[in-house]
Amino acid sequence: MEKKNVRVMAIGAHPDDVEFMCSGTLKLLKERGYEIHICVISNGDLGSSVMGPEEIMKVRRQEAMKAASLLEAEFYPLEERDFQIEFDDKTKKKVTEIIRKVDPIIVFTHQHEDYVVDHEVTSRLVRLGCFAASIPNYFTGSDQKQKIILDVPHLYYWSPLEGRNIYGDFVEKRIHIDITKTIDFKVEMLSCHKSQSEWMAELGMEKYISGMKKTAKKYGEVSGFNYAEGFTQHVATGYPEENILKDILGDVMKE
Ligand SMILES: [Zn+2]
Repeated sequence: MEKKNVRVMAIGAHPDDVEFMCSGTLKLLKERGYEIHICVISNGDLGSSVMGPEEIMKVRRQEAMKAASLLEAEFYPLEERDFQIEFDDKTKKKVTEIIRKVDPIIVFTHQHEDYVVDHEVTSRLVRLGCFAASIPNYFTGSDQKQKIILDVPHLYYWSPLEGRNIYGDFVEKRIHIDITKTIDFKVEMLSCHKSQSEWMAELGMEKYISGMKKTAKKYGEVSGFNYAEGFTQHVATGYPEENILKDILGDVMKE
């Protein structure tokens, strides 16, 4: 009998995006026997006003790896640069190659519209990569050529930052996962990104964490949980349409 695929992949543009947007759900999946794989497209070289790009990249790599280790996750940095994540041939192939390597059953990433363009480009790269990974004639030209995946993964888009679109409106999601039990873990993961708490919110870690909690509260309010993460599934032709999260986390989910 073929072994069940238990690989879950989360792909973020920057080193703290996965933690911010879906680590509560990743923790629940981990507790239910799923393996977590985290991929980060950019090194996050613009993420500081006090350190230069080379220095902050190293710091952020360490922070991201520490956070990933809390989930015993495999970590894959794709070494792009902030504001230089391109929807080009080279990056499409890189993203496809890493999806082939992991061969996940579930992929989480940014939605197509968000406050920063890096997130939007990442979303399109991952959407393409999930599908392209299954196409035999799509050659990536990589030295470490990976096997073609047999099944396109179930693709989910997490909410935009603060649950708001670029016009300031709340963005509704169709799937809500109750992360009340894992919110403390989410805080712990996010707390690994010390450099970002200093950079994004001059008030420090408390403000950084409270921003995340505010978003989780918003999605909690619309779904009847204390804290929730919101997702929408990509169900267009070529992608699996059944909501596999329901099979795994149905008892902590509201649609
Ligand atoms: Zn980001």
